[in-house]
This record gives sequence, structure tokens and C-alpha cells, in this order.
Amino acid sequence: MKHLIMIGAPGSGKGTQAEKLAAEKKYNHVSTGDLLRAEVAKASELGLRVKAIMESGELVSDAVVLELLKANIDLASDAYIFDGYPRNIDQAKALNAQILGDTDYTAVYFVIDTEVLVERLTNRRVCKDCGAIYNLVGMAPKKAGICDKCSGELFHRKDDNEEVIRNRIDVYNGTVEPMLNYYAELNRLEKIDVAGGKENTFKTLLSVIG
Ligand code: AMP
Repeated sequence: MKHLIMIGAPGSGKGTQAEKLAAEKKYNHVSTGDLLRAEVAKASELGLRVKAIMESGELVSDAVVLELLKANIDLASDAYIFDGYPRNIDQAKALNAQILGDTDYTAVYFVIDTEVLVERLTNRRVCKDCGAIYNLVGMAPKKAGICDKCSGELFHRKDDNEEVIRNRIDVYNGTVEPMLNYYAELNRLEKIDVAGGKENTFKTLLSVIG
């Protein structure tokens, strides 16, 4: 299997799709946002350094994220889904040069209207134990506040409030274009329309990753 790089705005559904694909197709799912939140939760030295940056919706430095990513993957073992990494052209180049090397991969771009994202993110809830993602509108848990999969407690990410969401989307829009051009020039880019909901998106995703 090829490695997959998921590119999409916050709230475009890439985490949800990565989770489903990992469960059904035996990929390893690595999310730099999850890795960073775990450091914050542990109150590690790194966690303390990145907490305020994450809460504002700005990006953590490229070097810090790259080291964290390297420490948490073993490419020899399996195919990976990279979720939330890369976020800019420098990260994309570092991923190719320092991690992927000659291995085969596809970059999938999740295309979605910006205004839909704000509504999605304000309603997003995440399981604090297993990381499963819900949405109060359309993808609600069976029991309010409780994860369907593991009965863990659901929480509302601190950076999923409207002001920070708008900043995160601006940050994203400011860095995505050169990255898309980079993958397009390498003939690695697939674009998928993700407006049609979780199941339709999953079908489209399966058809483009081959
Ligand atoms: P996410 O869960 O992907 O929305 O990421 C949450 C936050 O973690 C972002 O708003 C950034 O502050 C930080 N973050 C996650 N991935 C990266 C990355 N690849 N580069 C820099 N910062 C990141």
C-alpha cells in the first residue's frame, strides 16, 4: 500500500476519514495535532512550549513538529496516513527528503467550502480516550457526551471556538497553495470533493487511492 498524505482545512473531515481508513484498511494513522495534544496533556517540556501557540490557532515550528513526527513513526513497518502534516511547503519538502525518501505515496486534497468548516468545527466533539470524532449536527454520539466506541468522555477542543477557527482557516489558506502545486508538479496529487458527507467521501477516497 502507498502512504497517504491528507491535505485539507481544519474540519474538512481528514481526521475522520483517516480514522476510518486505518480501521478498515490497516493503515497506521499519525496525526501531528494528536501528537502535540498528547504532549500538552502530559505537560511535557514540549507540551508547555506549544500550548499557547496551539490555543491561538497558529502553527508550531516546523523543526519541533518534524522531530515529534520522526519519533512516532516507523515507516518500515507499514503504510501510513499523514494527517495534519505537512502544513506548508517546507514541511512537504522535509517529509519527502527526511521521511518518505523513495517510498510510494499519494497526496489527497479535501476540497470544501470555507464557510461550511466553521459550522462543522464549532459542533465537533472528540473522545478523550480513543480520539474518535463526532459532530453534534449529523454525526452525533448515541448518548450525549459519551463515545459510542469506547464509552470515553467527549470533549470540545479549546481551539474549536469561532475566533480561533477563523484564524486556523486563515493560517491554512495562507500556506496550502504552494504545497498543492508542489504535489501536482510531482504528479502525486488527487483532489476529492468532500461536501457529500462521511460515507460518500469514504467511497471517493477509496477510488482515488487505488
Ligand atoms: P490539528 O489537530 O491538525 O487541527 O492541529 C491542531 C494544532 O496543532 C494546529 O492549529 C497547530 O497549532 C498544531 N499543529 C498540528 N500539526 C501541525 C504541523 N504539521 N505544523 C505546525 N503545527 C501543527
